[in-house]
Amino acid sequence: MENRLSLAQALNFNDSLWNDGIMTDLKCPECGHNNQHLLQPHFVSGNDNYEAGWNGRGDLVIVPIESECGSNWEICLGFHKGTTSSFVRLGRSCKPKSYVYFIEAVGLDKIKIGVSDNPEKRVQQLATGSAVTLRLKAKMSGDALTEREMHKKFQHLQVDREWFYAAKELKDFMQPFLI
Ligand SMILES: [Zn+2]
Repeated sequence: MENRLSLAQALNFNDSLWNDGIMTDLKCPECGHNNQHLLQPHFVSGNDNYEAGWNGRGDLVIVPIESECGSNWEICLGFHKGTTSSFVRLGRSCKPKSYVYFIEAVGLDKIKIGVSDNPEKRVQQLATGSAVTLRLKAKMSGDALTEREMHKKFQHLQVDREWFYAAKELKDFMQPFLI
């Protein structure tokens, strides 16, 4: 997963407590939350041959930050043959992950498209009290907005609220997201 971000995304030019035209506060590069706490900074030696684990071949200076929104991230300064690079490395995200799921009603040629932060658990909940076997077939990153887009996209296949006819078109769409 690409977890590098531009340092600019962590700079708060708009609302800085100490901004006197020189200093700029930091903010969560994901959500912009402006309360952060410093963790222990450290230095990783690159020994001039990429050992520091970044794109360049030299040393890396790391300042780990914890945001009150729940994210943690690092300000990194990498040194490569006279060039110094700055970037942010995201550790834990503060954004809750959710998925749009595709659950198959086995034998009925129907697929339910819904949204959940835990599709594996959701299919178990639905299976309780269901006469047919339900199987989680696919999931993709997405929220309630993505779910609405999917419902609209496959509107012509809609059988009932969240259930859709398992046409080839829908199955083809699910292909990259199969579990
Ligand atoms: Zn955040």
